[in-house]
Amino acid sequence: MAWVMIDVSEAARLLAARRKPKPRTCPVCGGQFEAVGGRSKYCSKRCANRAYWQRYYPRHREEYLARQRERQRERYHRQKAQASGAGEGTPPDRQPS
Ligand SMILES: [Zn+2]
Repeated sequence: MAWVMIDVSEAARLLAARRKPKPRTCPVCGGQFEAVGGRSKYCSKRCANRAYWQRYYPRHREEYLARQRERQRERYHRQKAQASGAGEGTPPDRQPS
């Protein structure tokens, strides 16, 4: 009879400890968080988003800015078309044309 004598509560404690999410440090904001399921790398969606942007932005900067300009121009024209002069939002950047 060579039972390894482990207290039941002790075993449960060990199991729980193993399953416990590990505290991690968010690489974006440096905050501590618990990785649920041990998969998440960032503390929040916001940080994950920002990390994504930090990787994405330098490579697609021109593309992004161009698209933003395009969108601003569209909005500007749409506002002009409505012509009701609802002065909400910021005016679009003036384009040198
Ligand atoms: Zn974070």
